[in-house]
Amino acid sequence: MIQNPIPWPNCAKCACAITFDMDADSLIHIAKPKDSYDRLYPITMGKYGPTVAVPRILETYRKFGLKQSFFIPGWCIEQYAGTVDRILKDGHEIGHHGWIHEDPISTAGNQREWIEKALTSYSKIVGGKPRGYRAPVYNVTQEVIDLLIEHDFKYDSSLMADDIPYRMQTTAGELYEMPVHWGTDDWPPFAHYDEIGYMMPVRGPSAGLQGFWEEFDAQYEAGGFFMLIVHPFLTGRLARWRLVEQWLEKTLETKDVWFAPLEEIQAHVEALTKSGKYTPRTDQLPYYTQPQK
Ligand SMILES: [Zn+2]
Repeated sequence: MIQNPIPWPNCAKCACAITFDMDADSLIHIAKPKDSYDRLYPITMGKYGPTVAVPRILETYRKFGLKQSFFIPGWCIEQYAGTVDRILKDGHEIGHHGWIHEDPISTAGNQREWIEKALTSYSKIVGGKPRGYRAPVYNVTQEVIDLLIEHDFKYDSSLMADDIPYRMQTTAGELYEMPVHWGTDDWPPFAHYDEIGYMMPVRGPSAGLQGFWEEFDAQYEAGGFFMLIVHPFLTGRLARWRLVEQWLEKTLETKDVWFAPLEEIQAHVEALTKSGKYTPRTDQLPYYTQPQK
């Protein structure tokens, strides 16, 4: 059970979001900057996302009338502006996902430069400012939280302190967290990428997705929040996406769910909070300011 369930619009049982991180080939360029340009296998594995998988995913969303969220590094926004345009034309949300998928831990102390570089691409190509952020490899630091609050972000979606959306407060302001976890991420079942240090045993489509559906069943029963964190070049592959599409069709027909982009789910929770109808659990940050011994 969930201690503090959120009342969802129209009394829906569960809020749902399938969120895609469109990393494309940024992963190989940040991992092997000296010679990535001539590593055609990982380039093509990544490019499959914006060129083949995203159009397929968008077609499914159009068929079911869904609007969802995509997190895209600034470099990919520039490189794949045509795909970004298609995502925007269909009314989906695009969130911030770093510049070229740099890990905020390995670029610590320098985050302003990377985050603001991506914000410039965002305003030029997407337009305006993103409301949401997801850290590359989930590696949020306090420096990142402070920059997100400074740039008026409404939410982060990289951290794991609850099953449902919660709030983080610092002396500078607040940020909502749309929490992730590894059980609803497609990296463990499907990523096989020696160049960046992941050699997961690739699971068959239904075996790899089965854990996601069990996570949904538990969230649905508890009146919670079900979110997938998936990648076009992994879950957007033909056989896997076919099963996701079948699951969507069945779920929309038989369950009382609210599919929405994360920005709408966050805005709903914030509106309930401001009107006094709901009080989210709140974490005070920073958690620590020095090494713990
Ligand atoms: Zn990513």
